[in-house]
Amino acid sequence: MASDASAYGKPLPLMRGYTKEFYDFCKKRELRFQRCSQCGAWRHTPRPMCGECQSLQWKWEKVAGKGKVYTWTVTFQPLYPQFKAEVPYAGVIVELDEGPRMVSWVTGIDPMQLKADMPVEVWFDDVTPEVTIPKFRPVAC
Ligand SMILES: [Zn+2]
Repeated sequence: MASDASAYGKPLPLMRGYTKEFYDFCKKRELRFQRCSQCGAWRHTPRPMCGECQSLQWKWEKVAGKGKVYTWTVTFQPLYPQFKAEVPYAGVIVELDEGPRMVSWVTGIDPMQLKADMPVEVWFDDVTPEVTIPKFRPVAC
């Protein structure tokens, strides 16, 4: 499957450990984040210990996939040549309704039209046979 990954041509997540677990859920069309079993705090990016109560007890919990644009930055000059065809594009921090925030894309909208608190919902982009990336799109208010 390396040929498919090279056809994609963009950086891919390292598929190991917690990262692989996160993206394996995405492949199943599930957006899941770690949630502390002691205090209920969500966390992302994945790590073994809760930053709120230092518990090592947690589980992957599914979120509904709805949230809002928290903040973003628009890139006009691609840092990687593989993104040349994408500019201008926006790196967006989405805040899920359940609380965790994640870096992603908002597709289907000119990045100059992004607005704070814009409602978005997740969709899953199968960029290679192994890797599915969660992205977001605007939803009507
Ligand atoms: Zn905790």
